[in-house]
Amino acid sequence: MEIASTIAQMREIRRRLPEPVGFVPTMGYLHEGHISLVQQARTECKSVVASIFVNPTQFGPNEDFTSYPRNTEKDLSLLEGENTDAVFMPQPEDMYPEGATSWVDVEGITEPLEGASRPGHFRGVTTVVAKLFNITEPTKAYFGQKDAQQVLVIQKMAKDLDMNLDVIVCPTVRESDGLAMSSRNVYLSPEERQSSLVLIKSLNLAQWLWDDGESGADKIRQEMISLIEKEPAAQIDYVSIADTGTLQELDVIGDSALISMAVRIGKTRLIDNIILGGSS
Ligand code: AMP
Repeated sequence: MEIASTIAQMREIRRRLPEPVGFVPTMGYLHEGHISLVQQARTECKSVVASIFVNPTQFGPNEDFTSYPRNTEKDLSLLEGENTDAVFMPQPEDMYPEGATSWVDVEGITEPLEGASRPGHFRGVTTVVAKLFNITEPTKAYFGQKDAQQVLVIQKMAKDLDMNLDVIVCPTVRESDGLAMSSRNVYLSPEERQSSLVLIKSLNLAQWLWDDGESGADKIRQEMISLIEKEPAAQIDYVSIADTGTLQELDVIGDSALISMAVRIGKTRLIDNIILGGSS
């Protein structure tokens, strides 16, 4: 496994990699969710490149950029175990040199949900992902359904800007009790870890109501909110039932809907989602 710490090194390695090249961008502190993306890339591509970069521009001023968990040694050994061909680990000053003033900004679908709660977040995500695509020139890039809005935003960016690659979406990997895997789960105390199950419980409730014939989005939203409010450690940021393409809130659920949420458990902000009437 080759490790590139500069853009020039990554470009040099890329030139030698057999096509097709699969790319998995991450912020590190890898878990089975990330690894599932690498495994999917491994089955579909001749070469697999992963990146580890905690991207400062996607964090707000009061968010957890400096405290974001890091364990490069373990990450590299996990990636090596999956036969990853190359890992790109740039420094922030190489990705954002002094004087850089260009940004990639996707309008519209970046506005609700995560975009409303985290101003500037998606501009940071799209800018770094566009740069990573330019550097690694992947044939296919792999993203997790766990970050449902991010997937839509990246797909829109790739389409709108004629990026020459396929964006592949992989299912959410969960702990055995249903909590979606996330690097941020490490922040949870044992009590908070128990409380965090309220996310999957409320998503399961939505699924159950829908399966039982309920199509009123307000009714399902309210039932979910009531359940979450029973958990004292939980504070709702948003609970959304939206169109899977436009992310506009629905009154009535037709064929499908994205049910998504952000909930704070203590100081830890967790997100999760399912798609009703589709795969998740
Ligand atoms: P991150 O390191 O959090 O930026 O995530 C890197 C990639 O892994 C993103 O495409 C995420 O959507 C994906 N990912 C994170 N957690 C999971 C999970 N539990 N299941 C599947 N994919 C995930």
